[in-house]
Amino acid sequence: GATLGVMGGGQLGRMFVHAAQAMGYRTAVLDPDPASPAGLVSHLHIQADYLDPAGLQQLAEAAEAITTEFENVPAQALRTLAERRPVAPAGDAVAICQDRAAEKAHFGASGVPCAPHAVIETAEQLAAVSPELLPGILKTARMGYDGKGQVRVATPAELAAAWAELKQVPCVLEKRLALQRELSVIVARGADGQIVHFPVQQNLHRDGILAVTQVPAPEVDAALAAQAVERAGLIAAEMGYVGVLCVEFFVVDDGQGGSALVANEMAPRPHNSGHYTIDACDVSQFELQVRCMAGLPLVMPRLHSPTVMLNLLGDLWFADGQERTPPWDRVLDLPGVHLHLYGKTSARPGRKMGHLTVTAATPEAATATALQVCALLGLPAF
Ligand code: ATP
Ligand code: MG
Ligand code: MG
Repeated sequence: GATLGVMGGGQLGRMFVHAAQAMGYRTAVLDPDPASPAGLVSHLHIQADYLDPAGLQQLAEAAEAITTEFENVPAQALRTLAERRPVAPAGDAVAICQDRAAEKAHFGASGVPCAPHAVIETAEQLAAVSPELLPGILKTARMGYDGKGQVRVATPAELAAAWAELKQVPCVLEKRLALQRELSVIVARGADGQIVHFPVQQNLHRDGILAVTQVPAPEVDAALAAQAVERAGLIAAEMGYVGVLCVEFFVVDDGQGGSALVANEMAPRPHNSGHYTIDACDVSQFELQVRCMAGLPLVMPRLHSPTVMLNLLGDLWFADGQERTPPWDRVLDLPGVHLHLYGKTSARPGRKMGHLTVTAATPEAATATALQVCALLGLPAF
């Protein structure tokens, strides 16, 4: 059978491999880590650095089409692979998503508002920042994730200290917005320009890390949801994107007692806020990634069960200073609980070890069960 290749061997790659294999494909994963979650379950695991020419050549020989699961895979590696094989998403699109300054410029070019911000590359630009942007968040333009590479600043002095601390140029200073809530939208776009999307996800972040996703979004009206979907589609189309794309949005006050949408950032791949699609939709985000790569038809996915997704961070593997296994037997005794563990060998606080999806007949029932899970695991309620 045909082989599909993926750059990166993390949990997103692992779930991609599962979806590809279920559809009869062989898989090839390129990741330097011999114990990478996706490498462990793939037919072929190429242990090489992302820019290693021999590794890239081996992947291009093995795989008929190639994708990425890792946002920070060097765009140049994807461009090199694209000389030999179809690569989706393209290196140029991934490069935009890897750079907050380029990403925000792209939102603007797509006609989609984002937070007021300034790109800071020099001490002069730092000194000239408008006080309108404070209090704000200084973010490294590149390589940040899970809230890493971000410092909250309230005054020009704190801004200068944060700039010195991050030691990275360029940075982006964003105005800190009062968030009513956070949403995300996942779209898949085919080479022919067809776009399908999942329902709008409502996300709760704790300490900059996604903690809870609820679908249907309990506090989002239909008009705002439709606007979020439309904007995600515009953002994808504007860069001729092929593949699965997630766009994160903030919901803020519109100044007239209502709500307005602001784009936060995007990810050129399936997204943590879309993991519920495996258990709660008739087609998952990973199957859509397979379909995009393989040139298969895209169909509009359908949510068949209201759902709550809980992220399982490494913190759960520790209690009273001791390492432990969380009480899965009690959690799995509840109805509609789907446990996904990524096969990571060591738990560290903040490390994404797995997730858990609750499906139920009604949103209320899904929430009630998810709250029971939280109580059993010692997670805060949402
Ligand atoms: P991810 O793991 O989602 O890629 P990241 O490190 O790229 O995370 P962001 O999405 O930029 O981080 O920010 C993380 C979280 O911090 C957001 O989900 C939001 O809760 C909060 N946040 C970020 N920017 C702002 C802002 N301008 N105003 C208010 N809150 C913000
Ligand atoms: Mg990010
Ligand atoms: Mg984010």
